Amino acid sequence: RPSALSPPQGYYTRRAGVGESGDFVTSPEISQVFGELIGIWCISEWIATGKPKAFQLVELGPGRGTLTDDILRVFNQLASLLSKCDVSIHLVEVSPKLSEIQALMLTGGKVQSNPEDESAYMKGVSKTGVPIFWYRDIQDVPPGYSFYLAHEFFDALPIHKFQRTEKGWREVLVDIDPEVPDQLRFVLSPSSTPATENFIQPEETRDHVEVCPEAGVIIQRLACRIEKDGGAALVADYGHDGTKTDTFRGFQNHKLHDVLRAPGTADLTADVDFSYLRKMAQGRTATLGPIKQREFLKNMGIDLRLQVLLQNSRDPATHEQLLHSYDMLMNPKKMGDCFNFFALLPHHRLAHPDKKQKPESKSPSPPVAGFGELLLK
Ligand code: SAH
Repeated sequence: RPSALSPPQGYYTRRAGVGESGDFVTSPEISQVFGELIGIWCISEWIATGKPKAFQLVELGPGRGTLTDDILRVFNQLASLLSKCDVSIHLVEVSPKLSEIQALMLTGGKVQSNPEDESAYMKGVSKTGVPIFWYRDIQDVPPGYSFYLAHEFFDALPIHKFQRTEKGWREVLVDIDPEVPDQLRFVLSPSSTPATENFIQPEETRDHVEVCPEAGVIIQRLACRIEKDGGAALVADYGHDGTKTDTFRGFQNHKLHDVLRAPGTADLTADVDFSYLRKMAQGRTATLGPIKQREFLKNMGIDLRLQVLLQNSRDPATHEQLLHSYDMLMNPKKMGDCFNFFALLPHHRLAHPDKKQKPESKSPSPPVAGFGELLLK
């Protein structure tokens, strides 16, 4: 089964391929505006739910920590708004190398390993004074009202691949090529496999399907937590709504790389199937999206933010960088269309105002930032 994580040779457990010199660059690393707008999204949800006394920001797979760093800057700028709120950061990261890079970025490297009193494997304090904790599994994160962020996280998790044949569904497996030494190849299972029985939906119409059961389990956990303690999850990734088929691919040095060559040296990825994530929320929460990145960022006010940054700088190189990164994030041919935003929210957050409500009853919830009024599912 293809996986980028199998220790000790897995890609993420062994190397840190993120960043301009790595195998891929992600939106938070392209522009500070990306993380700032996500920080504002959290604050906006916090206000819309009546400013609870505490919230946790939980990031799954934080990479180099850039997104959380940009969000912490926004929280710091809005310190007077948050002054009575107890904010803490919780990072779910399996890669020892990346957790070190995150610690350096967020705390300057002052961290404590294996703190005795916590379920975390590491803890520290951000440059702005916010406590930060690291975990290997979402189940170790303490319960409580939380914002869960997963940016380019689910696409990195291992998938099963299935092919429809005349004899029924078969699983695509990885095999050693008997003719060529050190060469892997794809084969079809001779008969049905347990995964085939469990993961193919009876109503499936595609001929080739990729399923990421680990993503399903994590979405279930997030949905349970949000149902119980409130908050929201925001998933941003490239993906589709249950329409695409064969998307599994590898990247090395920013170039496509044969997924079967030199395992553990390339970033392996598959598009996120948002229809599967929605199904795995099992109705415990409401879901919004997927909505295209360019629409989400536009709804979040990226144009205004760009104008302010342009006005604040006279340096032509900075202007060029700002416009270039805006284009990367928003251009439909670049990241604007293929990246999607998807959210889980408590049902009550999206309850439609009852037309027959008495005037003295509570006013309806404000709309969820970024998603406009559309895409209610
Ligand atoms: N969110 C970052 C990095 C994306 S790369 C960005 O957008 O720049 C994927 C990240 O998920 C890496 O940090 C990787 O180490 C982490 N990761 C992958 N599988 C994981 C798992 N099962 N549990 C926790 N973290 C995981």
